[in-house]
Amino acid sequence: MSAKLSILIIEDEKNICDFIAAALMNQDYRVFKSYSGMDGLSQITSRCPDILLLDLGLPDMDGTDIIRKVRKWSAMPIIVISARTLENEKVLALDLGADDYITKPFGTSELLARIRTAVRHLTRINATNSTSHIFRASGLVIDFDRRRITVHEQEVHLTQVEYKIVSMLANNSGKVITYDALISHVWGPYADDNNRILRVNMANIRRKLERNPAQPEYIFTEIGIGYRMVDAET
Ligand code: CA
Repeated sequence: MSAKLSILIIEDEKNICDFIAAALMNQDYRVFKSYSGMDGLSQITSRCPDILLLDLGLPDMDGTDIIRKVRKWSAMPIIVISARTLENEKVLALDLGADDYITKPFGTSELLARIRTAVRHLTRINATNSTSHIFRASGLVIDFDRRRITVHEQEVHLTQVEYKIVSMLANNSGKVITYDALISHVWGPYADDNNRILRVNMANIRRKLERNPAQPEYIFTEIGIGYRMVDAET
C-alpha cells in the first residue's frame, strides 16, 4: 500500500486533538481533524478515512451515536478516546462496534500502538478470503479448520465451550471483547448472568494455554470490560 493511511480525529478538546494529530502526522499518516459530532460525521462521508479516532464526550452529540451510525455501513476501525472512568461507557462503545479504546490522559507510544493494531485490523478487513484459517502468536497456533490448538508444538485439549471462547478471541485478536459479547456468543443472547461461568472457563483455558496463568502471554484481562487476545503474527 503506497497511499498514506488516513485517520480522522473527532475530539472537541482542541489541544488533545492537535496533540494526536501532530503525533500521527509525524508517523506519516494523513490526518483530518474535527471538533464536533456533526462535522465529524460529514467528514467521515466526504473524506472516507481509513481509521476513526473518536472522543465519546462531544458538545453536540454522544460519540456512541456516531459509532451506531458508522457501523450501519462501514467496518472501519474505530478507536474510542475516553476520559470517562465509567467502565459502562467503554463497554457500550465496544458492544456497539468500536474496536478499541484509549483512556485520557495517554502518551504518544500508547496511542501509536493502538493505531498500529487498528491498521492490522484494516489489513484483515481488506484481505477478503486470503486468510488461511490459522492463527499464530508467539508459540500459540490455532488451526480453525481442524479445530486443533498447539502451544509450542504441544497439542492442547479444550472443551467445546473453551474452544468457542478462545476462537472468538483469536478471530478478533488485538481487540477487546466484552464479557457480554463473549457470553452471548457462547451461551446465546438470552443467557443469564454467566460472568462467573465465564471466569471459571477462562481460568481453565489459562491453565491449559499459559506458561504462567497469573501472567498471561496470550489472553489478557481488561478489568471490568472483557478479554483481549494477543495480536496475531502477520
Ligand atoms: Ca470531549
